[in-house]
Amino acid sequence: MKPKTIVVCIKQVPETNEVTIDPQTHNLDRRGLAGIMNPFDKNAVEQALQLADQTPAKVVLLSMGPDDYAESLREGMAMGADAGYLLSDRAFAGADTLATGYVIAQAIKQIGEVDLVLFGRQAVDADTGQVGPIVAEFLHQPQITYAASLRLSGDNEITAERLLEDTKQTLVAQLPAVVTVRSELNTPRYPTPRNIQLSFEKPLTIWHHDDLDLDDSRLGQAGSPTIVTKVYEPKPTKRELTSLTGTPTEAASQLIKALKAHQLI
Ligand SMILES: Cc1cc2nc3c(=O)[nH]c(=O)nc-3n(C[C@H](O)[C@H](O)[C@H](O)COP(=O)(O)OP(=O)(O)OC[C@H]3O[C@@H](n4cnc5c(N)ncnc54)[C@H](O)[C@@H]3O)c2cc1C
Repeated sequence: MKPKTIVVCIKQVPETNEVTIDPQTHNLDRRGLAGIMNPFDKNAVEQALQLADQTPAKVVLLSMGPDDYAESLREGMAMGADAGYLLSDRAFAGADTLATGYVIAQAIKQIGEVDLVLFGRQAVDADTGQVGPIVAEFLHQPQITYAASLRLSGDNEITAERLLEDTKQTLVAQLPAVVTVRSELNTPRYPTPRNIQLSFEKPLTIWHHDDLDLDDSRLGQAGSPTIVTKVYEPKPTKRELTSLTGTPTEAASQLIKALKAHQLI
């Protein structure tokens, strides 16, 4: 089985770092902020397009969020993806990563016969990196996270190099599978003017609550077990700097004195 349909999950994130936090809900206040496609998700789209050229497969983009997330889906279609789905409903609002992963997984089941699902490594606004692994669990599929390279290695499998802090792993997974990708994977292509034009002819489907088979207790705030107890900007702390002087022996004795003074030894 070569992948026939590759789904890439993309999130729209604020273009700026000047994001404020709603003091009541403790959520990011995204109102009025221009959005861009999460940068890691562009690597996932690029990878899907490269794999699709080899098989050939259909590349389908999937995003959950408000209506303006359609902009990122159009951008992905201008890169070359064939279609986009936007999961948008008031019932999905206030979702934590578990509730987000649940709705995305249900949508992937509904798209049907999806052989490979790609995610960015993490979203640059909330930064958890949890949605991909959660979706893999809901789909009961093998998952590879932090892939820095990815290739089809047989009729029914993929091979990925996993880049961790100080080690590399090579993993093989049977399809269907879920992979989250790092930016080392590739350089995302820019949409050409012709492809931007063509993207408006590609199908962009919006699925609301009633279009999906959903358990309401798993949606939105009610389906989100995460409790944000406090959100705050850490105050910069002023540290005291003491330079050690003299020979190494003198410096060592100054260091021991300072550590003793602070009751650290
Ligand atoms: C208690 C709580 C309440 C929250 N309430 C809100 C809220 O009201 N409104 C709000 O906008 N956010 C809210 N959030 C944030 C929201 O849950 C997360 O943004 C979302 O679950 C994705 O998590 P993440 O950004 O850490 O993604 P990560 O797990 O870091 O993302 C990894 C990858 O998953 C994919 N992905 C992530 N999110 C999506 C998506 N939506 N659609 C498609 N693919 C995706 C992308 O490929 C991305 O690269 C809330 C979070 C918590 C904890």
